[in-house]
Amino acid sequence: MNVQNIMTNLEAKHPGESEYLQAVREVLESIEEVYNKHPEFEKAKIVERLVEPDRIFTFRVTWVDRNGEVQTNLGYRVQYNAALGAYKGGLRFHPKVNVSMLKFLGFEQIFKNSLTMLPLGGGKGGSDFDPVGKTDEEIMRFCQAFMYELWRNIGPDQDSPAGDVGVGGREIGYMYGMYKKLAREHSTGALTGKSYGWGGSLIRPEATGFGAIYYVERMVKEKGDKMEGKRIALSGFGNVAWGAAIKASELGAKVVAISGPDGVCEIADGITKEMIDYMLDMRASNRNKVQDMADKFPGKAKFTAGKKAWSVKCDIACPCAFQNEMAEEDAKELIANGVKYVAEVSNMGCQPGAIATLQGAKIPFGPGKAVNAGGVATSGLEICQNAEHRNWTAEEVDKNLHTIMNNIYDMCVEYGKQADGTINYVKGANIAGFMRVAKAMLAQGII
Ligand code: GLU
Repeated sequence: MNVQNIMTNLEAKHPGESEYLQAVREVLESIEEVYNKHPEFEKAKIVERLVEPDRIFTFRVTWVDRNGEVQTNLGYRVQYNAALGAYKGGLRFHPKVNVSMLKFLGFEQIFKNSLTMLPLGGGKGGSDFDPVGKTDEEIMRFCQAFMYELWRNIGPDQDSPAGDVGVGGREIGYMYGMYKKLAREHSTGALTGKSYGWGGSLIRPEATGFGAIYYVERMVKEKGDKMEGKRIALSGFGNVAWGAAIKASELGAKVVAISGPDGVCEIADGITKEMIDYMLDMRASNRNKVQDMADKFPGKAKFTAGKKAWSVKCDIACPCAFQNEMAEEDAKELIANGVKYVAEVSNMGCQPGAIATLQGAKIPFGPGKAVNAGGVATSGLEICQNAEHRNWTAEEVDKNLHTIMNNIYDMCVEYGKQADGTINYVKGANIAGFMRVAKAMLAQGII
């Protein structure tokens, strides 16, 4: 494989799909050396096949808003690769959603799901529907209309969507209700992230954040350091940041920043339980404003408009919101302020320049596909529980999640250890994730 040739072809074939091209380049650059030691991969054109999704569904979603006006959005499902199992990955509702964004997310999902060691293929979907400012009824009507179109193409052994940005327990509930009505299938893993009591798994809401902090804890221990007393800056205030805040606080670290599209809230003494609980209200309000935290807790949280979480002095920085949310300048500011570790919890949260800057400064950097894999891993555990018609206890789920994250961490070290003794977690995650998929594709023939 020659990465530059492949990228030149892809750029010509998919012009303007910048996020997709960025994600592919990062993976190919990491695996190039190992790949070229396997002529059988080259012969079977593994990479050329892997970079193109198996199929993409695009559909119109029409619904009626609170004023009785007809609205039309676009819906998508990218079924990327099923070498390891049925397609699996979230749905994102955000006005910027397009094919490039979902292809990048679906591509990342293949390797992330592979790292979990569960039988999960990779997929992603979503819509350009904007939940901000919508009423609960509008969200329900949209979710129903979306599922009315998608339901035939999903199922527990076919493709199992879950949440992502803009899609949480409420949206999954509305979509699952519609799915069951149409498919007449009950208590299945056709969707994950369901609520506990009707097929959902305990710990699934917390899982992405918990898993991320389990991974960060290992990065910190690797340096002979400890979590206790560490100042952590999180971006966003959604489900992922919420779970990370709970686990980080439990381990004695201090969450000193959360952020939103409107700015950052600095929490000098560390986030409290009441504030963590309030994050859920902020998400349910559909306002998408982090300033609400400062208004609710005036003495504790200080809001600054237009600033990112990376402007707050911290030991550990965790992007938890959106792709490319940390730029090279942000990485430089973090380093100048003494950051010791950076772990991407959002998918592709850091721009290539930010990653290169952090790695150049020898700051351990954990990539999203490893750090945030706890979410989809626990979705995999939800599918197991649905298939068994049984609910596991919270302890059982958490124990499995912790084991999976430890295993992912170990694989990243195994494949990412450098000659100078440092660990390139990006390389480790990409190689470990890729090898499992490539071997499966090879064994399953040219299809
Ligand atoms: N959207 C999450 C992710 O990026 C979860 C996917 C899932 O649970 O299927 O991995």
